Amino acid sequence: MLDTTPQPKRQQARNEMVDSQIAGRGISDSYVLEAMRTVPREFFVPGDVDNFAYDDMPLPIGQGQTISQPYIVALMAQIAELHPTDKVLEIGTGSGYSAAVLSRIADEVFTIEHHESLAMRADNILTDLGYDNVTVLHRDGSSGLPEESPFDAIVVTAGAPSVPRLLREQLKPGGRLVVPVGTDEHRQRLFQIYRRGDGTFDTEDYGPVAFVPLIGREGWA
Ligand code: SAH
Repeated sequence: MLDTTPQPKRQQARNEMVDSQIAGRGISDSYVLEAMRTVPREFFVPGDVDNFAYDDMPLPIGQGQTISQPYIVALMAQIAELHPTDKVLEIGTGSGYSAAVLSRIADEVFTIEHHESLAMRADNILTDLGYDNVTVLHRDGSSGLPEESPFDAIVVTAGAPSVPRLLREQLKPGGRLVVPVGTDEHRQRLFQIYRRGDGTFDTEDYGPVAFVPLIGREGWA
């Protein structure tokens, strides 16, 4: 069990992170800012780097994977345009941190991770924190979660070679897919794919990003 007693020093570091790295860089969605002030990021990073939990960078979490830079987590959550009633799917649980942030805004979050050890660790932390509206699943998430679809938002935290068609199809009308897409395995552009009422899609480009690759059926081999 984690010791989840609130720590004033960590809360202060978190507020400073939000003020300088998140709000200070133009993230304005009040749900996102509040969630970033709430989730204790230090529990999601490995013990040997937890002093860097509020620094402006991604950190290693094992299995060659990383927890994204806080700004990127906030940016993706803002682009997902979340509301408190939303049902959300995340692909790429990793540490569980971004799922935790999404879960402080949305009603229900499903998050999928294909590394079993990461999925188990994230699940344990989320349970210890009492974040009981998050379900962690261990499998290839590149084709989504048809049995729980449709979703208000789908957030992919690994880079896809092209927009995963099966994920797009699992959006509700008015739903948003946030996904890094790139023909280079380690460089992408961040897209929001919006599903219109008539079933067609709009694509908006939010600029260059660098994620680990999305592996699997709708991802890289
Ligand atoms: N959101 C995470 C960071 C994710 S890094 C956090 O907040 O810590 C990307 C993650 O996607 C890695 O853990 C990687 O194992 C996972 N991943 C890559 N391809 C996947 C797939 N097809 N299905 C599920 N998870 C995948």
